[in-house]
Amino acid sequence: MAHIIELTDALSNKIAAGEVVERPASVVKELVENAIDAKSTVIDVLVEEGGLNKITIIDNGVGIRAEEVSVAFKRHATSKIKNEHDLFRVHTLGFRGEALPSIASVSFLEMTTATGDGAGTKIVVEGGKEIEKHSAQARKGTEIQVSNLFFNTPARLKYLKSLHTELGNITDIMNRLALSHPEISFRFSHNGKSLLKTNGNGDLQQVMASIYGLTVAKKMIPIQAESLDFKLMGYAALPEINRSNRNYISTILNGRFIKNYALVRAIQDGYHTLLPIGRFPILVLQIEMDPLIVDVNVHPAKLEVRLSKEAELGQFIASTLKAAFHKEQLIPDATPSKRQKLASEQLAINFDKEEEPEEIIAEAPKQNVTPTYSTAPKIQAELPTSDALPDEPPLFINEDFAEYDVTPVEVPKERMPKMYPVGQVHATYIVAQNETGMYLIDQHAAQERIKYEFYREKIGEVDRELQQLLVPIVLDFSTDEFIKLRDQKTKLEEVGVFLENFGQNSFIIREHPTWLPKGEEESTLRDILDEALTKPQVSIHKLREDAAIMMSCKKSIKANHYLTQTDMEKLLDTLREASDPFTCPHGRPVIISYSTYELEKMFKRIM
Ligand code: ADP
Ligand code: MG
Repeated sequence: MAHIIELTDALSNKIAAGEVVERPASVVKELVENAIDAKSTVIDVLVEEGGLNKITIIDNGVGIRAEEVSVAFKRHATSKIKNEHDLFRVHTLGFRGEALPSIASVSFLEMTTATGDGAGTKIVVEGGKEIEKHSAQARKGTEIQVSNLFFNTPARLKYLKSLHTELGNITDIMNRLALSHPEISFRFSHNGKSLLKTNGNGDLQQVMASIYGLTVAKKMIPIQAESLDFKLMGYAALPEINRSNRNYISTILNGRFIKNYALVRAIQDGYHTLLPIGRFPILVLQIEMDPLIVDVNVHPAKLEVRLSKEAELGQFIASTLKAAFHKEQLIPDATPSKRQKLASEQLAINFDKEEEPEEIIAEAPKQNVTPTYSTAPKIQAELPTSDALPDEPPLFINEDFAEYDVTPVEVPKERMPKMYPVGQVHATYIVAQNETGMYLIDQHAAQERIKYEFYREKIGEVDRELQQLLVPIVLDFSTDEFIKLRDQKTKLEEVGVFLENFGQNSFIIREHPTWLPKGEEESTLRDILDEALTKPQVSIHKLREDAAIMMSCKKSIKANHYLTQTDMEKLLDTLREASDPFTCPHGRPVIISYSTYELEKMFKRIM
């Protein structure tokens, strides 16, 4: 073994740079964060050739005192914390004192800074070496120029991707910084071309408009909620506007944009059944909480944080979003002119650096915008049997469904307007009207939604009203399956599956809840067991959801089924009672609308 020595500052800075300065976008992030911490109100970011040529950041913040300029380039030199106490109460974006020395060690850096009190200072550092320092005339604030990035770390240089990719990453960072700080005016340009400009008036919706376009910004609903521990503020896109990846979800914690999988999951949960599978929302969420319960010191770039109340925060976010959508009418407008306008918006932000921005830009706008329509399966509907039990789910062609309670009480009646059926198209879609316009309703999706809510409620409170099976079901399993199921016995009882041991590796089911889909009791039970076998870790909550969705699909009145006027009226009225009438449990739309105004425009009755 060689002798143990302490590394030189120059070398340790270069090592730190490996973590802090991954690519041009990290330089932009660190320097802009410094400008934010310096209380700037206007920040200019000028980038050349994807940041590989030059990055210039100009701010109007507090500046650095002449005698401290060199110190700022020392490792672990910071003005933001003084002791351990401060470390747990970080209010600034930076605090590790690593960015300036790291960046300076792998580039040519020039800084001119002034506090507004006396002359300013200019300093030139090349590959970590101070080349020049003298006083200079400058207005209050700091200007930093970084060029020849990674000139002395060829491996890092080689690892960089195309100019396009690097620019995409920088754009993403700039977008998120702007979203995190609507009170600061950002101006960002590439090779002289302006890419983002915000006015710094504090209006988050305006920042969103400059990033996502006006049309999308208009389709956002405000989110605002406060609990003892958290404060939420932001905007969430209506479900009809969605994307194929999670990059459009921005979570900002105490002014710092962060990456947190649990929170993204909570957001998706808030959109549960409102978005088609594989589609993701556009949303900006600013979260405020006591810095004491956030550990920001877990990631060199501070993108990831550790939250001691993560689960509570997640639940709060999901329920806040659900409540917000509950107040909205979520019927997408089907008229072409509006759809085209929607398609014209776009400025992708790309959170995952692994992902090529090309991919996002290439995303077909029509996919972004219009809800996904599934071809309803062409299965002939089964007519309800006359001996249907009173607990039969609300099949709308069943005369008795009116007595089923699918209505959570607090839903405002006006959410889905009253509409009157006019007729049926291809025995699949109902055409309806009211004073504001015309509607198309997918009868299968509508019924799935109604049944889903029915089962979700039933399965949430499995009562002991059980029906004995005439012929008990005996199920044989392999040893490992048997063990998996045995371990989940209690959970399965919560969703209405009552397993009794029956010899080696077998269970017997003698009874089941009365409300299981009629005629499909056995297959439903088997499907739930399948689910429990393939995903043994799944929570009761998720198992209930999945079982409810599965049951809602069973024995549904599918497409290609003729409905009488009364059937249609009943279906629509029952749908109005649903708590989320606008999408089926898979997130596909149930209703689309054409406003009377748009109809008149299409027929040139008005211009
Ligand atoms: P940190 O941000 O973690 O403190 P940095 O290496 O990024 O560490 O910066 C070191 C110090 O230099 C900061 O604490 C701050 O005092 C000063 N500084 C850096 N950039 C600026 C700026 N744009 N305006 C004023 N002060 C700055
Ligand atoms: Mg910093």
